[in-house]
Amino acid sequence: MDMRSVKVFFQLLLLTSFLLFGCNIDHQNEEAKTLDYEQIYKEKWCDALYLRKHSFANINEVKTVHLALDLTVDFDKEVIHGVANHSIQILHPTDFMLFDTRGLIIDKVFLDNDTVAVDFELGRSYPTVGGFLKIPITPKTNNVTIHYQTTENSKALDWLKPNDKNGLDKPFVYSQGQPILTRTWIPIQDDPSQRITYSAKLQVPKDMLPLMSATNPQRKNDTGVYYFEMNQAIPPYLIAIAVGDLAFRSLDEISGVYALPNMVEIARDEFQDIPKMIVAAQELYGEYLWERFDVLVLPASFPFGGMENPRLTFATPTLIAGDRSLVSVIAHELAHSWSGNLVTNATWEDIWLNEGFTVYFENRIMEKLYGKEIADMLFLVEYQELIETIEKFKSQGQYADTHLKLDLTCRDPDEGLTDIAYVKGGLMLKTLEEAIGRQRLDAFLKGYFAEFAFQTLTTEQFLDYFYEHVDVSNSEFVIEKWIYEPGIPEGAAEISSDRFDAVIALANKIQKGEKLPKDLTRRDKITQKWLAFIRALQPDIDPTTIEAIEEQLQFAKSGNAEIMTEWFVLAINANFDGFRDEIASFLTKIGRRKFLRPMYSALRNNPEMADWGVEIFQKARAGYHPLSAYSIAQLLEIVD
Ligand SMILES: [Zn+2]
Repeated sequence: MDMRSVKVFFQLLLLTSFLLFGCNIDHQNEEAKTLDYEQIYKEKWCDALYLRKHSFANINEVKTVHLALDLTVDFDKEVIHGVANHSIQILHPTDFMLFDTRGLIIDKVFLDNDTVAVDFELGRSYPTVGGFLKIPITPKTNNVTIHYQTTENSKALDWLKPNDKNGLDKPFVYSQGQPILTRTWIPIQDDPSQRITYSAKLQVPKDMLPLMSATNPQRKNDTGVYYFEMNQAIPPYLIAIAVGDLAFRSLDEISGVYALPNMVEIARDEFQDIPKMIVAAQELYGEYLWERFDVLVLPASFPFGGMENPRLTFATPTLIAGDRSLVSVIAHELAHSWSGNLVTNATWEDIWLNEGFTVYFENRIMEKLYGKEIADMLFLVEYQELIETIEKFKSQGQYADTHLKLDLTCRDPDEGLTDIAYVKGGLMLKTLEEAIGRQRLDAFLKGYFAEFAFQTLTTEQFLDYFYEHVDVSNSEFVIEKWIYEPGIPEGAAEISSDRFDAVIALANKIQKGEKLPKDLTRRDKITQKWLAFIRALQPDIDPTTIEAIEEQLQFAKSGNAEIMTEWFVLAINANFDGFRDEIASFLTKIGRRKFLRPMYSALRNNPEMADWGVEIFQKARAGYHPLSAYSIAQLLEIVD
C-alpha cells in the first residue's frame, strides 16, 4: 500500500470532518439546552437519550479522537482491569463530557496530567443502553483518563473456562461489540457515527496470545505484554479483543488465520481461498485499505457467523465444514472492509447501508471465485429466509420492520439485525443492477466507497448521493419504495437456479412416498442445494422417510452446521424422535445464534418437545455468549 496517498487522504479527511461538524454545531447547541438531568433519572431510557437513540454521548460538543487503552486480563477473576485514556477534541464549548457505560465499575477519573482525581457522575443504568458517565472538563482539557474494571455484567465479553464440551485446554475470552456492547468493556462514546483511532497495551498470562482489531502479534512472547495500534479511525463497535492459547498460520503476505493449536492447520486449509477473495474484492470496489486481513477462528460459543472486526475478522468454527463449502461468510466479512468498516451507518436505523451492501458485495465476490450458479444458489437460500421473515413480521403486526430504514426508538438495536437489512438490502441492489446495468452500478459503488471512506452516513445522505449519481428515470426502479415501504416492491430482481428447481422437485416426490434414487449422494458439497432440498420437505413427512434419507445422505452426521440445523428443525417439526442425542449435543456445543434460534423455536412450538428444549437450554446456556443466551431466554420466555 502507498502510505503517501493515505497521508494526503487523512489530511483531506480532517478537513472534511471539520466542515461537516461545522454544519452540525448550531443544531446541536439548540438541542443541548433541552438536556435535563432530573428528567434523565426519572424517565425510561428511551426518553433519557437526548440526541441519539442508543447513546448518551454528547459527541457533537466533545468527542474522543484517540483512545489509548492499558488493560490487564485476569482470567482467575474473569475481569479486565483497564485504563482508558481519551484524547479529546472540543467542538463546541461545554463543561462536561458524556460517555456510555454499562456493567462497568468506574474507579477514578483524571484530566490531563493532574494527579488529583475529578468528581464524576454516573447516571442511572438502564437495560440495553446502560447509563452515562459524566465528566467535568474545561476548555483546555486534552485528555480524560478513566480507571475502570469490567464485571460479570460486561455483556460483550465471553469468558470461557476449559471443559470437555468446548474443547478448550486453557481459558479464553473474546468480545463482541456490535451493536452497543463496547460500552460494557470500555467506557466510551459508543455511537456508530463516532470514529476514533486506538492503541492498547495488554498484559495477559504468559501462555496466552492476545489479539485485537489492530496490528497483531503472530506469536507469544516471554513477557505477556503486547502493544496494539489501530491507526485508521473506526466506530467503537469495531474495537475487539480475544485472548487465548492461539496459533497463527500465514496464507499470503497480507492474510492468515489464528485458531486454537489443534484447529489452526484445518482452518488454514478451509480458508485457503482468502487471498483470492481479497483480489476479487479489490477488483470490484477499490483498494483494500486495512493493510491486513486475518481471520480468527473462535470457540463454538461465538454468537455470529462472523464479525468484521477490522484487520481481524472473528469467525465461528461452524464455518469449518471440512470441504470449504461455507466460506461465503468470509467473503461477507471481507466485503465489510468497504461497506460497514470504511463507510459506516450513522445510526443503527441505517444498518441496511452496512449489511445490505455487504450481502450484495459478498455475492459478487462469490460469483467471481466460484461462478454465477453458486452465487445464485447462495442468494436464493437467503431469499427464502427473507420471505419467511417478511411473513413473520407481517403476521406479528410488525410490518414496518420490513422497511430498510428502521425505527428503533426505545428498542434494542440488536432487533435491527434481521434478514431485512441484509437480504432485502442486497435484493434492492440486485434490482438496481438490473435497472441500470452492472457496469453503471459498479462504477457507482466504487465511487460511493471512495467518496465516503472513513465516514458515516444516514440513509437520507445516501439518497442525496444516489440521486446525484444514478439516473433511474428510464426504469421502474423506485428506491424509496425499498427504503420506506414494507415487503418487497414489485419488479424486484428474480433469481433462479435449475439445480435448485430440480432438487426441490425431487424432495416433493420423496415427500409423497417415492423412493430415494439410489445414486443420490452429497458428493457435490453444495450446501445451498441441500438446504433447499430439506426445506422443500414438509413436517407431515413419514418417519421412515426421514430414516431412509438419513441413511443415504447422513445429514445429521454431516458436520455441516447449516445442513444439520435445517435437518433437525424438520425432524422436530415432524415430531421425529430419532435425533434426540444429536440435537442435544449440537445445541450444547454450538452457540451461533443463527442455528440456536430456529432450533429452539421449533422445540418451543412442539408441545411434546418444549420442556425438553428448556431443559437443554438450562444446561447449555453457560456455554453461550451472553447475546445468544439472552436471545434464547427471550424466545423460550424464560425470565431471569
Ligand atoms: Zn454483516
